[in-house]
Amino acid sequence: MSNTSWAVVLCKFSDQPTETRPPQYYKDLFTSIPGGPVATYWRDVTHGVIDTTGSQVFGWFTMPHSTAELAGLVFPGQRSVLVQWGKDAAVANGVNLGAFGHFIVFMNYGVDSGEAGNGVVIHHENSALCEVAFICHEMGHDYGLPHSWSAAPDREYGDGWDLMSFNTTTFDWTINFEGASGAATVGLNARNLDVLGALPHSRVWSPPGPDFSSPVELAPGSQFPLPGDGYLALQVNAASTRPARPSGNPWYVEYRAKVGWDQAIPADSITVRERRISSGDLSFLNPTMWSSFQAGGTYVLPEPQVFVNVASIDTAQHRASLRVWDLPEGALRKEDSAPEVYLIRNRCKTWVESPDVLLKVLGRSWADVRSVPDGGLAGVPDGTPLVPFWGAGRLFPGAYPAGTLVAYDPNTMDWWLAAPTAGGLRWTQAGNTAGFGQVGDGRPFWTGDFTGTGHTQVLFYYPGDQNWWVGTVNGTSLSWALWGNTSGFGNTVHDPTWTGNFTGQGRTEVLFYSPGDYNWWLGTDKGATQQWSLAGNTAGFGQVGDGRPFWVGDFTGVGRSQILFYYPGDQNWWVGTVNGTSLSWALWGNTSGFGNTVHDPTWTGNFTGQGRTEVLFYSPGDYNWWLGTSNAGRQQWALVGQGAG
Ligand SMILES: [Zn+2]
Repeated sequence: MSNTSWAVVLCKFSDQPTETRPPQYYKDLFTSIPGGPVATYWRDVTHGVIDTTGSQVFGWFTMPHSTAELAGLVFPGQRSVLVQWGKDAAVANGVNLGAFGHFIVFMNYGVDSGEAGNGVVIHHENSALCEVAFICHEMGHDYGLPHSWSAAPDREYGDGWDLMSFNTTTFDWTINFEGASGAATVGLNARNLDVLGALPHSRVWSPPGPDFSSPVELAPGSQFPLPGDGYLALQVNAASTRPARPSGNPWYVEYRAKVGWDQAIPADSITVRERRISSGDLSFLNPTMWSSFQAGGTYVLPEPQVFVNVASIDTAQHRASLRVWDLPEGALRKEDSAPEVYLIRNRCKTWVESPDVLLKVLGRSWADVRSVPDGGLAGVPDGTPLVPFWGAGRLFPGAYPAGTLVAYDPNTMDWWLAAPTAGGLRWTQAGNTAGFGQVGDGRPFWTGDFTGTGHTQVLFYYPGDQNWWVGTVNGTSLSWALWGNTSGFGNTVHDPTWTGNFTGQGRTEVLFYSPGDYNWWLGTDKGATQQWSLAGNTAGFGQVGDGRPFWVGDFTGVGRSQILFYYPGDQNWWVGTVNGTSLSWALWGNTSGFGNTVHDPTWTGNFTGQGRTEVLFYSPGDYNWWLGTSNAGRQQWALVGQGAG
């Protein structure tokens, strides 16, 4: 602050000749360091930013006013009249008030004291009384400081650690000065130091941005000399969190030591304040009046939450060690001594069972996992496990476009689209099906290009209304369209169902078998609408829906999907091929020489690279591997692996 020195004018009423103290007393009060308590207070708590040692004392001057005139004034409203009387007396005696930034008049009699807008008046007729804290408080107003408050409920004068709450809640003590004594009090809070220019910004720690966890060492505020290291305050700005603090208000965390002007506070402690910029720029002690925190204590800032934990306070060296962290959505956290990593989702902590895997999937790394003190996550509710999200049946690989995959999270009913990036998969929320209710209830899903978009789509059938819905990715958005309804068939959810390019049109069709009447139905897209046709009947085979295995593939090289089954009763393999819209069956082979292979592990694939689907099975009895390939429409078996090796 520029020009923080005072014109100190001593005035007598015309009918009151007593000079309470000689001018030297007031000179010492304002200019002597360390002897003068007013000068020393401001030097100490503002680290010399406010310097009153350039103040000058003038008087005693006799005013052309008697004490009787006081009865005609109303206080505090007309307090400024008293200040003006003092200024008039000074000017009449040749004082150049313009050389000083501030004005204070001491009168040898009075009924009211304080700051009046045009300066400060103090009535001082008791030579044994030195109102250091009161004088400094009124000087604080003249320097532009408002009263300080506490929160919940909001209460003026509620900050016991701040001069500007003197003397309602402040921790006061008695100071002696040149044979007089009076109340002295605490230093200034961070908000007030900041507006006075006495809080060096290099000595304030703020989070670098959302998603943080950091140790912070604080040095005590309002002490002299300025501690050589350590931050004087921790300041959480509105933009320090995600989401940003809606109020826009910064919060301060300070350490105050029980020494110097703060010698009467209960103990070395941490205090927290909100600075309400938009409503008067006032400071509020939180959580409420007289609140402070000791080692082991934790204060949680209101939403968006920021956790401030007091790890320890060294009362000998006057250092406070804090831990401060946030828990934004998507953050990864662990406790210091525990190995478990948690993902913050929906305001809960979800245990990440396989961090290496999940971090890769999320496109994150161990550097993104931030540690908080032991017990720091205890109060965060447990989220629903991630397993269902990533587990079988919830992930739909495909080419939505190429390389992407779609996943459904039954917890939130969100659909996610994952695209590969250099750092792993990047997940984007692609949609939400809360409007359908819970689709992760066991209903069947298939993937394929059902409506001929050239990309993978997701299809589900809902037994409740027999609707078939197709989900299509456009950009990063998954949208759903009704593809058809099969209420005419009744509930088909338990009917064996396969998907494939059965007719060779290049899109994915649905084939189902109705065990009740042995009918086979083929669902094909026509103009984005499902069209069903009766493809065949296998009454001649008896009941094929008896649990026997079926596979889909191009087994005989027809250039489209076929359906294959194996009948354990006679070891025949039958291949069904759609010609036009008609499904016809051909005997592909017989494996009675192998005995019954229905329980042997069996796979299908293009193993030899001939471009058709082959059958591979393993015989646990003799450790042999057999490959079945089509040759001129007939199954041919070859031993491709052997031995107990
Ligand atoms: Zn006041």
